[in-house]
Amino acid sequence: MTRHVDAVVIGGGQAGLAAGYHLRRLGVDFVVLDAQATPGGAWQHAWDSLRLFSPAAYSSLPGRPMPVQMGETYPDAAHVVGYLTEYERRYELPVHRPVRVAAVHRESGTLRVETDSGTWHARAVISATGTWWRPFLPAVPGRSDFRGRQSHTVDYRGPRDFSGQPVVVVGGGNSGAQIAADLAHHTELTWVTQRPARFLADDIDGRALFDAATARRRALDEGRTDTGGIASLGDIVAVPPVREARDAGLLKASPMFVRLDRDGVVWADGTRAKADAVIWCTGFRPALAHLAPLGLRGPRGRIATAGTRSVDEPRLHLLGYGDWTGPASATLIGVGRPARDAARAIAELVASER
Ligand SMILES: Cc1cc2nc3c(=O)[nH]c(=O)nc-3n(C[C@H](O)[C@H](O)[C@H](O)COP(=O)(O)OP(=O)(O)OC[C@H]3O[C@@H](n4cnc5c(N)ncnc54)[C@H](O)[C@@H]3O)c2cc1C
Repeated sequence: MTRHVDAVVIGGGQAGLAAGYHLRRLGVDFVVLDAQATPGGAWQHAWDSLRLFSPAAYSSLPGRPMPVQMGETYPDAAHVVGYLTEYERRYELPVHRPVRVAAVHRESGTLRVETDSGTWHARAVISATGTWWRPFLPAVPGRSDFRGRQSHTVDYRGPRDFSGQPVVVVGGGNSGAQIAADLAHHTELTWVTQRPARFLADDIDGRALFDAATARRRALDEGRTDTGGIASLGDIVAVPPVREARDAGLLKASPMFVRLDRDGVVWADGTRAKADAVIWCTGFRPALAHLAPLGLRGPRGRIATAGTRSVDEPRLHLLGYGDWTGPASATLIGVGRPARDAARAIAELVASER
């Protein structure tokens, strides 16, 4: 089956929904195609104890504030899934699921979007597929020699899978710190970070991070010196479970090891830590395989953008992948503004072609 629309949004997580909200307001004829069977994007796959690093009021998409979760300052992932489910229902967003986009091709006048449920032709495409689907593991010598279990943030559910075992958690970001804190009371934990762990001050949470990102955007917009944004403040938000484990002396980071062997990890001075499991909390890459036919890929798997727009394919916008697609665009509260910019550009394109 082949269909024609003004715009296709690929991905129905928070970024795709924020784009849909603005496209609808601007009267653009569009669909959202989402590979998941149910609403909520990556939040559906988070581990049991994951908490947002901002209160609900600082985790809202355009138009509709996230309601407070009863008894919780920092909402859990299930609360976010509920919010996103309600959001797409409330704004009657045309989300088709499960529909997986296999490839986007150039055609004269349109972009052809090939999916496992037929073909769409669109004047413009917003790619909002997130990063959760492309876990990144560093190339560390001996990884294939290790006989224990290796997993990534995306596989982690909770401490019950590791109870009483020697476990190495690798990663000094929020995921690594939260998973290490989650395991600290239940395992023989070794927490490894590439550089010394940088906790933000206890009174700083996602609100301050958003303010830092906003200040950075203003500085760059006004041609002033880059303030460094979020990264200048630290790496780890001291959410309550992280703070508790740290204060109990259970979150002491070791430097990065140089290799794995059959039984665990080995540091440069020959010191070893035995491990039954290594959990790599080492980040993600943008999930952009469906855009490969357009031939736009640059360094680190990214695509050159000006704002959200692809520099080399102006009918394509990229949304929600990180600061390179708009400051704080990979957060609930930060994605609204770049989503609005992308939707406006598409509305103008559509109007100019009518
Ligand atoms: C551990 C962790 C904690 C985080 N905590 C916070 C936080 O506290 N606060 C905050 O604001 N942000 C947080 N973030 C960042 C961010 O809000 C989330 O990563 C969020 O899920 C990103 O939303 P998204 O819509 O960009 O991507 P996703 O939620 O990944 O949604 C993308 C959607 O696109 C679909 N898709 C992918 N490929 C295709 C395809 N080819 N065809 C069709 N559909 C496709 C996916 O199935 C998915 O439904 C966190 C991220 C992580 C990893």
